[in-house]
Amino acid sequence: MQLLDGKFASEKIKEEIAVEAAEFLESTGRQPHLMAILVGNDGGSETYVASKMKNCAKVGFKSSLVHFDNTVTEAELLAKVEEINQDESIDGLIVQLPLPAHIDPEKVTAAIDYRKDVDGFHPVNLGRMMRNLPCFIPATPYGILLLLQAYGIDTAGKHCVVVGRSNIVGSPMSILMARNANPGNCTVTLTHSKTTNLKEIALQGDIIIAAIGRKNFVTADMVKPGAIIIDVGINRETSETTKSGFKLFGDVDFENVAPKASWITPVPGGVGLMTIVGLLKNTLASARKEIYQ
Ligand code: NDP
Repeated sequence: MQLLDGKFASEKIKEEIAVEAAEFLESTGRQPHLMAILVGNDGGSETYVASKMKNCAKVGFKSSLVHFDNTVTEAELLAKVEEINQDESIDGLIVQLPLPAHIDPEKVTAAIDYRKDVDGFHPVNLGRMMRNLPCFIPATPYGILLLLQAYGIDTAGKHCVVVGRSNIVGSPMSILMARNANPGNCTVTLTHSKTTNLKEIALQGDIIIAAIGRKNFVTADMVKPGAIIIDVGINRETSETTKSGFKLFGDVDFENVAPKASWITPVPGGVGLMTIVGLLKNTLASARKEIYQ
C-alpha cells in the first residue's frame, strides 16, 4: 500500500501557485483576492474558512472575510453577494456551507457571479463542466484530480465507483472521472443511499471514491485487492486526547482497508488539503482571467 499524501502534494502545488501569484503581483501590482462569506458560528465551518484564509496568505493571495450573524436575512446576504460581484478588486467569492435553514443555498449559489465562483458550484460552471468546456471545477473534485495527477496515476479504462451523489462532491466527481481526459476515462458507477447492492458494486471498483459522511462506512470486505481508495469524508468526533477537542475520521475504515489497497488517502492529510489547493488554483485562474474575461 502507498499513501496518496495530500500534505506532500498540496505543499508542492502551493509552492508553484506562490511563484505564479508573485508573477501576477509583479505584472499587475495587485494580489489575487479571495473573499469568503461565513454565516453563524458552526465550529467546522469556522475552521475550514480560517484554513482557507491562512493558505491564501501562504501563497501570497489577499483574502477577506465577511462574517454574518446567524440572524442575517436572505435579502441581506444576497445584497452582500451582489456588492462583491460588482467589486473588481475581488477575484473569487465563496459562501461557506451549510447556511442556516431560513436561507436558500440554491438562491445564494446562483446569485454569485459565475466568473467569481471559485468553489465551482454555480449552475453555469457545472453545466460547462458537463460539456468539457473551460470552467471552475468544484474545489474538492478538482483537488482529487490534482492528487491523482501528482502521483502519476493512470485512471484510463478503470472502473471507478463513487459513493455519494452530492452536488459538491459525488455527482461532479462521477462526471469528471468519466470525461475524456486524464485523470478520467473511467467507467463510472455512481452509488447512493438507494443503491441496493453497494457492496457487490464496490468490490468491482478499481477506484473507490467515498463521499458519504459516515465514519468507517467503507470496510475491507467491500474493497477489491489493489484498489485505489479516495476518502473524502470528514467526520468530526469530540475527543479529550487532542488539543483541538475533536478528532477527524474519514468514510473509510483506514486501518483495515489500507493493507488491501494499492493507494489510499489518509484522513486527515488527504483530500481536505487538496480541496484548498483546488480553491487556490481556481482563484488564481480567475485573477488571470484564464477562464472568463
Ligand atoms: P452529503 O450529505 O451532501 O451527501 C452524502 C451522500 O452520501 C448522499 O448522496 C447520500 O445519498 C450518500 N449516502 C448516505 N448514506 C449512504 C449509504 N448508507 N449508502 C450509500 N450512500 C449513502 O455530503 P457531502 O458530499 O457534502 O460530503 C460527504 C462527506 O465528505 C462529508 O463527510 C463531508 O464532511 C466531506 N467533505 C469533505 C470535503 C473535503 O474537502 N475533504 C469537502 C466536502 C465534503 P442520498 O443522495 O441518496 O441521500
